[in-house]
Amino acid sequence: MINRNTFDDTKIAFSLKNDSELERAYFLFKMISVEPLVRIGKVATNFAIKANLPIEGLIRATVFDHFCGGVNEEDCLPVINKMYEKGVSSVLDYSVEGKESEKEFDNALKTVLNIIEFAKALDAIPIAVFKPSGFGRFKLYEKKNNGVDLNADELKEWERVEARFEAVCKKAKAYDVAVLIDAEESWIQDAVDALVTKMMKIYNTEKPIVFNTLQMYRHDRMAFLKKEHAMAKREGYYLGYKLVRGAYMEKENDRAKEKKYESPICKSKQATDENFNDALQYMINHLDCMSIFAGTHNENSSYLLMELMEEKHILNNDPRIWFGQLYGMSDHISFNLSHLGYNVAKYMPFGPVKDVMPYLIRRAEENTSVAGQTGRELALIKKEKERRKNA
Ligand SMILES: Cc1cc2nc3c(=O)[nH]c(=O)nc-3n(C[C@H](O)[C@H](O)[C@H](O)COP(=O)(O)OP(=O)(O)OC[C@H]3O[C@@H](n4cnc5c(N)ncnc54)[C@H](O)[C@@H]3O)c2cc1C
Repeated sequence: MINRNTFDDTKIAFSLKNDSELERAYFLFKMISVEPLVRIGKVATNFAIKANLPIEGLIRATVFDHFCGGVNEEDCLPVINKMYEKGVSSVLDYSVEGKESEKEFDNALKTVLNIIEFAKALDAIPIAVFKPSGFGRFKLYEKKNNGVDLNADELKEWERVEARFEAVCKKAKAYDVAVLIDAEESWIQDAVDALVTKMMKIYNTEKPIVFNTLQMYRHDRMAFLKKEHAMAKREGYYLGYKLVRGAYMEKENDRAKEKKYESPICKSKQATDENFNDALQYMINHLDCMSIFAGTHNENSSYLLMELMEEKHILNNDPRIWFGQLYGMSDHISFNLSHLGYNVAKYMPFGPVKDVMPYLIRRAEENTSVAGQTGRELALIKKEKERRKNA
């Protein structure tokens, strides 16, 4: 029987944080729980960076160090090793966003290929990851997505995008390191899906190496999963999926409204939750040919996955099932799961301070807007502070 209070153990949850780190986390979540402060902070930080004001040190000592592992791979190593002592693995996530030049796409490719080598050498990094928009121009994906004829230059450009996907998947397979491909806005996702399916057919012939991402806030994703499953069975390859709820809900709904089409997003939070849990159930029932990476901070979905595993007599450390959270968030889920021997990996963002600002701002905004999330973090930290005081 799974104990649904497992995640309440704050001693385990914060075992890696000393008192001053705990204080910093408390201060930080307190700040980002105040919406106007996040709004003002965003404008002020963007201005200060553009104006070359010396605020990097301040960002580094606060939000950056809480949500990121470091400025480069080596910089992340101490944190990676520390987490791994508690059984929590890392997925190094090169979080430089919004770059649009071929040079920068090639640089992102080089970084991901390096991470695969790094991962091969370190048990603490079992999985690599990349974002499709890190490997090609957003507008190009959009054209491809909409079936627009590409001109000669664009065709060459698209070939380079495919070649970058291919280079990563090929190396991942050669090094036996799984690779997660993030999902982004729905209006580029068909193009991404087609490319990832193509990679799965080539590289997932013996086991899941290439993982696509299913955003379960989209009401069409269960049908997509079933269709992909039927095709994989027919053609004889494995499937790997990272299941998430989805990070672009407001943007998706706004665009659908503006362009007057039906929003791809589920009608309610509850519908998204059910859709996510249905996908977990479906995948657990077909583990013979698929692997799950459950990327979620939702306690109920995490407990549900533990219960489904127990029902099916699946070992906690079955290599086909991973739980994933973001570094700096929901340690109570990650560390309590690893304590029980489940496979857990935290996305560990890294990159130069000013280049990961869009990521950091998203985290701050998400923690302001995702109902309950910040409150939950604050309550847990407070509980642990009390526990330490009385210990
Ligand atoms: C390891 C990891 C990897 C991730 N990778 C990706 C990725 O590749 N692509 C991506 O898009 N996101 C990604 N995310 C973010 C993820 O999609 C969610 O935004 C975030 O995790 C919050 O969802 P949750 O499952 O943790 O739980 P909760 O906090 O329970 O759920 C919040 C989510 O529910 C949905 N939701 C909220 N309100 C409504 C509503 N009214 N109607 C319908 N749905 C609603 C939204 O998706 C919202 O983000 C990742 C998260 C993790 C932990």
